[in-house]
Amino acid sequence: MESGTKNRVRLWLRSERAFGLNAVPLPRKTQLDRIGGIATPRHPVQTDATTERDADERTIDRQAQNVPPRELYAGVAAPTEMAPRGGLIAPPATEAFVAPLLSRDDKVKRLAALDEKEVRGCTRCRLCEGRKNTVFGEGDADAKIFFIGEGPGENEDLQGRPFVGRAGEMLNKWIAAMGLRRDQVYIANIVKCRPPNNRVPMPDEVATCTPYLERQLEIIRPRVIVTLGLPSLKYMTGDPKLTMGRSRGHWREWRGIKMMPTFHPAFVLRSPTAEVRGAVWNDLKLVLAELGMPVPQKKTE
Ligand code: URA
Repeated sequence: MESGTKNRVRLWLRSERAFGLNAVPLPRKTQLDRIGGIATPRHPVQTDATTERDADERTIDRQAQNVPPRELYAGVAAPTEMAPRGGLIAPPATEAFVAPLLSRDDKVKRLAALDEKEVRGCTRCRLCEGRKNTVFGEGDADAKIFFIGEGPGENEDLQGRPFVGRAGEMLNKWIAAMGLRRDQVYIANIVKCRPPNNRVPMPDEVATCTPYLERQLEIIRPRVIVTLGLPSLKYMTGDPKLTMGRSRGHWREWRGIKMMPTFHPAFVLRSPTAEVRGAVWNDLKLVLAELGMPVPQKKTE
C-alpha cells in the first residue's frame, strides 16, 4: 500500500479508537503493509506539518505520531491521549453531489439550523474547552466561491466570525481585488473552534469537526472552492504529502466541485514577496476565469 494511504489509514483508525470504537485494533506500521483495499477514510487527516507557519521537524514528528503537543497547552491541562467524546466517522463520501440545488432560502435556513442546533453547542472534541465562541463561517449562502481556512485565531474566537484579524484583512483585499464584496463569497474553516495558541488542529479534531464543513459545502454547493494554506488543502484532498509550491495554481476537484489551492493569507503577511503575491493573484484570476467573471486590472495589493 502506498505510504500516504497507510498514514491516513493509521490515523483514521486512531480516530476511530478515540471515538470509543475500541474494537478497532490499531495496527502497527508493518501490519498496515498487509492490509489492502481499505476504503479511503471519509475524513482523511493530516499527518505531517501542515502550514507554512508550522513546518518544522518537531511538528512533523508530533503530528505523525499524533501526540498532543504539551507545550502548546499554556495554562490548560494538556490531554495525554485522544479525547473520546463520542461520534462516529461516517463511511467514505467522495462522489459528486447529484441532488438538485437548494433555493437560497433553503440554504439560509439549513445553514442556520446547522449552526444553531449543532455547531454552537458542540463539545465533540477538546477544542470546545478553550473557546469563547464557535466560528461557523459566514457569507452568501448561495455563493459561487467558498474559501476554506484552517481554524479560528484569537480575534475570530472573540467575535465568532472567520477571518476578522490581520489574515482576514488580507483575505478581504483579495476578495476586493477580484471585484467582489465579502458578503458575496462564503468563508469557513476546517475546525470551528480556536486551537490553543493557534497551533495546527490535531488530526482527531479535524476528523471530528470536518463533517460540519462538509455539510456547509453540501448545502451551499459552490462552483469553486479555494483552499487557503496547506491544512485545508491536505484535508480536502486527503493527501498529506502535498506541498503548496507544487499544488497552488492547479485545479483539483472535491465531490464534483472545482477546487483551487492557494496560499494562506497569514503566510502572505509573513512573506509578502512579489512572487508570493503574484502567485495568489494568478490563482484568484484562474478562479474568476473559471466562473466567467471579469478579471479586474488591479493586483492583489
Ligand atoms: N486563519 C484561518 O485559517 N481562519 C480564520 O478564521 C482566521 C485566520
